[in-house]
Amino acid sequence: MGRSRINIAIDGHSSAGKSTMAKSLAKELNYVYVDTGAMYRAATLHAMRERSVVDTAVNEVGLRAGLDRMFLAFRYNPQTEQSEIHLNGINVEKEIRTMEVASKVSLVARVPEVRTKLVAIQQRMAEAGGVVMDGRDIGTVVLPQAELKIFMTADPETRAYRRLRELQQSGKSVSYDEVLDNVLERDRIDSERAVAPLRQADDAVVVDNSELTVEEQFNFLVTLARTRMEELG
Ligand code: C5P
Repeated sequence: MGRSRINIAIDGHSSAGKSTMAKSLAKELNYVYVDTGAMYRAATLHAMRERSVVDTAVNEVGLRAGLDRMFLAFRYNPQTEQSEIHLNGINVEKEIRTMEVASKVSLVARVPEVRTKLVAIQQRMAEAGGVVMDGRDIGTVVLPQAELKIFMTADPETRAYRRLRELQQSGKSVSYDEVLDNVLERDRIDSERAVAPLRQADDAVVVDNSELTVEEQFNFLVTLARTRMEELG
């Protein structure tokens, strides 16, 4: 029998629906889902608590020193049936989804030492295969050998609108313009940073989901994954 458990890298723009797809795909294939955005968000929360990021000012010396005091882990929550991020032993899954964290995360994520630490953890998680990992640099830097790479995008207005609905559903009061600005600003910083910028891997399959339903996308991705597995035997 050939290798059956491949690694799947899903990259793309902010709020392009990567995590929704990655979660459903992992469930369907019985794979492990790794949300690398949650790791950068938790690193940001840690830096905020240590006051090495205040407003949009980042104290890089303090941030780097604080990395030794930051322990990240995913733990399965049987209530939500999801793997959730823990920072120094505490579940911070909810806290990392605020606009405050969203407005700072790209500034923290561009610090090279932050990336080095998180990429090493991500690569260990994928060592045995059978992982669906989403982020910005998975197909290019974290898992360049991933057997299937997907690059997801949609027009910014669609992405902002979807994120707005998500935030409102979780009870957060925020305006459409604020969400759109954040989505565009994160894309800009993520694409322009020196280390591991957001870009499409040459061998990625591009999925623009502006006009696709979640179900259409899901069916497309499952077919893609199964075809790839068959090709590899
Ligand atoms: O995926 P999510 O929107 O939660 O990611 C939050 C932020 O974390 C991104 O805007 C980006 O700055 C950073 N990130 C990253 N590399 C990844 C995943 C996320 O730089 N692999």
